[in-house]
Amino acid sequence: MVRVRFAPSPTGYLHVGNARTALFNYVFARKNSGQFILRIEDTDQERSAVKYEQAIIEDLRWLGLDWDEGPEVGGNYGPYRQTERLHLYQELAEKFLQAGLAYRCYCTREELEGRKQQALQEKGMAGYDGRCRYLTQAQVAAFHHEGRKPVVRFQVPAESIEVNDLIRGKVVFAGETISDFVIIKSDGLPTFHFAVVVDDFLMGITHVIRGEDHLSNTPKHILLFRALKARLPFFAHMSMTLGPDRTRLSKRHGATSIRAFRQAGYLPEALFNYLALLGWASPDGQEIFTREELVREFSLERCSKTAAIFDHNKLLWMNGLYMRKTSPERLLQLSLPLLQAQSLAPQEPTAEFLAKTKQLIALEQEKFKTLSDIPERIGFFLKTPVYDSKLIEKYFTPQTREILAEIEVILADQESFEHHKLEEAIRTLCQEKAYKPAQVFHPLRIALSGTTKGPGLFEMMEILGKEETIGRLQAVIKNETFRSGKDGGPGTPP
Ligand code: GLU
Repeated sequence: MVRVRFAPSPTGYLHVGNARTALFNYVFARKNSGQFILRIEDTDQERSAVKYEQAIIEDLRWLGLDWDEGPEVGGNYGPYRQTERLHLYQELAEKFLQAGLAYRCYCTREELEGRKQQALQEKGMAGYDGRCRYLTQAQVAAFHHEGRKPVVRFQVPAESIEVNDLIRGKVVFAGETISDFVIIKSDGLPTFHFAVVVDDFLMGITHVIRGEDHLSNTPKHILLFRALKARLPFFAHMSMTLGPDRTRLSKRHGATSIRAFRQAGYLPEALFNYLALLGWASPDGQEIFTREELVREFSLERCSKTAAIFDHNKLLWMNGLYMRKTSPERLLQLSLPLLQAQSLAPQEPTAEFLAKTKQLIALEQEKFKTLSDIPERIGFFLKTPVYDSKLIEKYFTPQTREILAEIEVILADQESFEHHKLEEAIRTLCQEKAYKPAQVFHPLRIALSGTTKGPGLFEMMEILGKEETIGRLQAVIKNETFRSGKDGGPGTPP
């Protein structure tokens, strides 16, 4: 049975690169009817925070990933948080000590640093020199007497290590590049290397799929697996995710955490789809996938060795595509909190309000790229427009008020407020009075919405409804701003 894991360290929000790692593990597990495990690697107590663990869990769920074992779901191989497994690392380190696979090292930080500099100068190497490998009992007693606290180091055999990576092929690490490394720190906590291998071993992980930045750790991990007499998992190291300038993806490039994309109004299924294309491609170049299609198509063999470039524009394009595919009903559900946050929707909206907002969403749907566009594009329907004096100056002439008053009368006469009918009536007025469309339609739109952009003017009126449309027109007609000026109001050409 395939068992894979995603093992985030809760030291920050979920980065898109890590989310991609999670996603590939998840898809690989589902494809092989295997199990996907979530393990929290929180042994770095200074940098780890419960808040980040919760945020990572939330964001994984938001992306649509679910795990078969791990926090919140349990499982037979728990606990799934490393700080709850400390006894396991300590027991195994003890076994290593007894079997002569590891030893206690009493060197202080200063001593290590001094010798490292010297070795660098003399041999160009900087690894631990093995000084504490064979201490006598008397030496150990003396160190204890001095109050030194030892670390436990793994005794690295002098041989080169081969990693047979499912994505990168065979990678050989020369023996001298790996020196005896620490597995238990002086405070009793395991190092990353030790915890990861002990857990992968005890949790029966069959495939370790992770970022390429861990490739250089893998020879150490292989040595630890061997010392545990464990069967080696398969390794697959995925290429890194870079920004368009080919440097490591960072805040400089824009949003980098799933949380930031979530807050910016991206849809989970769009992000899911986009992340899948970072370092993986389908055989026929298909780019838009449902989750099920991706599970069917995915294979590690098609993961690329070269770095993936994170392209915000492409993601935005893809999100727009998903926005258009999503039902107005769901868009309403997803955007309601955004509308409420901007006081465009009441905290307890009525059925009538919801129905109208859904209609507005449907009307403007083609134009949305993210959920955040929804309040921006439909906001003016939902609350009285605020007029921008520059627009008024530009589009209103002395005659405008008169024209708007004529339209008001026509609208008041309409029995049906259906947009074709409205269009017909207003166009007839234009013809009869020989008005140019620009004289009528721009000011009318501004009067109703406060902006020059938006959906079809007559559709907009239909959705606003008779009362609201006339109300807004009257407010503009009565507005002092549009009356002021000796020569008939702002916008009068000089
Ligand atoms: N906790 C490690 C990280 O966040 C992952 C280790 C692994 O996947 O082996 O980078």
